[in-house]
Amino acid sequence: MNKFNSEKETTGIKLRRVEEDLEDLERYIKEFTSFLPLAICTVNPPKIIIDINQALQNLTGYSAIEITGEPLEKIFSEKKGIDGLLKKTQKEGGIKNEELSVVSKSNKQIPVAVSVSTRKDVAGKFIGYFLAIADITETKKTHEELEKRVRTRTQQLDNSRKALMNILEDVENERKKAEEEKNKTLTIIANFSDGLLVLDENSRISLANPQIGKFFNVPINRIVGRSVSEITEITELALLTNLLKKEIRGIFRKELEIRKDLTLEISTISMSNQGKEFGVLVILHDITREKTVEKIKTEFVSLSAHQLRTPLAAIKWTLRMLLDGDLGEINKEQREILEKSYQSNERMIALINDLLDITRIEEGKYIYRTVLTDLADLVHFVVNSSKDEAAKRNLKIEFKKAGDKMPKIAVDVEKIRLVIQNFIDNAMKYTPAGGKINIFLRYLEESKEIEFSVKDSGVGIPLDQQPRVFTKFFRGANVVRMDTEGSGLGLFICKNIIEAHGGKVWFESKENEGATFYFTLSVGKEFEEFLKEF
Ligand code: ADP
Repeated sequence: MNKFNSEKETTGIKLRRVEEDLEDLERYIKEFTSFLPLAICTVNPPKIIIDINQALQNLTGYSAIEITGEPLEKIFSEKKGIDGLLKKTQKEGGIKNEELSVVSKSNKQIPVAVSVSTRKDVAGKFIGYFLAIADITETKKTHEELEKRVRTRTQQLDNSRKALMNILEDVENERKKAEEEKNKTLTIIANFSDGLLVLDENSRISLANPQIGKFFNVPINRIVGRSVSEITEITELALLTNLLKKEIRGIFRKELEIRKDLTLEISTISMSNQGKEFGVLVILHDITREKTVEKIKTEFVSLSAHQLRTPLAAIKWTLRMLLDGDLGEINKEQREILEKSYQSNERMIALINDLLDITRIEEGKYIYRTVLTDLADLVHFVVNSSKDEAAKRNLKIEFKKAGDKMPKIAVDVEKIRLVIQNFIDNAMKYTPAGGKINIFLRYLEESKEIEFSVKDSGVGIPLDQQPRVFTKFFRGANVVRMDTEGSGLGLFICKNIIEAHGGKVWFESKENEGATFYFTLSVGKEFEEFLKEF
């Protein structure tokens, strides 16, 4: 073998080796790209796909054979988008992670991030593009979810902020309202015609309205903030503070004549919140005018009653003389007429006496003279004197005394007799013929009281009128309809008499089923002490 031949042979071997190396390299690149999880696509200058790796086949669903030779738009839905990218690549030499969508074989849109670089041959001539396509479905989903969460959270925060703002606005409105309410209340208090004082739990005056200053001629800043005992030295206030120093919690009402031209009615209301007392409200109502009118009325009634009494007494005795025949014989007809006139006159005298009693009660001149009395005797006497009238009215009247042990009791006999008589008279007046009247007297050992009661089977008192029974001039609608005689003054007088004796008076009744009137008088020590005052 010559030198030339052997050189030729050596070059041939070298070439084969280079070829083998190139094949190795190609295989290596193929294997490498097929193994690579990133989808890669090689494109020539007219944008025809030359090669795709396994990852892009997986992503698009096209096999390498199906897609090789197809235009790039086949896998990119937006032609403009991919064209733009390639142009940009040309200009800048390469681009990274631009977002586009890939359309799969099954027509599914897949969001991807595309990086492109230009391919050049050894001489630097442009021969196409490399596209690296990363599936960003998950990233996008995560991103979207994240965005959604951020949006929701922002929304929530925004809502919370709005809610907070609303709350703040509401609080501010409430505060304004409370302020307005407070101002309103203060204006009302300041202009109230009644005097108002608020005492706190330590009897310190925490509020006094201007009317208090006017009533007592003292500037209110001299009393506000001070305790009741501290202001006793203010002479104008002495009467009031003496009253307030006593136990005045709860509801209490008292009339106070501050001076000749001023009478106040003092009421107190204890103020409490959830059962806890935090002070007392004292209301001072000017009743000077009412008192004056009342006084004038009482004086007028008293005067008229006295004036009426004299002629009525004259009429009484004239009629009596006529009836007794002192002025000559009278016939039956004349007698009947005179009898009727006499009875009417008697009723008129009784009414005048009632009116006089009332004026005396109101003027505080109803004098009580007490004597130790056996109440049973007194009741017996009144019942016996009522028997004729009961028989006339066809009523059964019965008196029962429980037990023998009935202590004597110090009472104004005349006045108590009046009460017993009134109860029995009413029972007779308001019980139709054939009815029953039961009178009881019993001693209650435990409370040391004597209880008197008159029970009848009469018309009773309508429920809605019962609260007014002991008031002046009250007459039940049912008895007015019955055309019975009466002035509505008896029970008012009775109540005053019993209460002046320190006793209690009450009744129980059901319309059309009758009524029972009661009084109790105490025989205990308290009563003896009470009587000492008379
Ligand atoms: P008068 O009997 O003169 O009307 P009273 O003051 O004694 O006045 O009684 C007031 C009213 O109370 C009566 O008019 C009557 O309506 C009612 N009343 C009193 N006692 C009875 C009674 N026993 N039964 C029914 N109503 C009664």
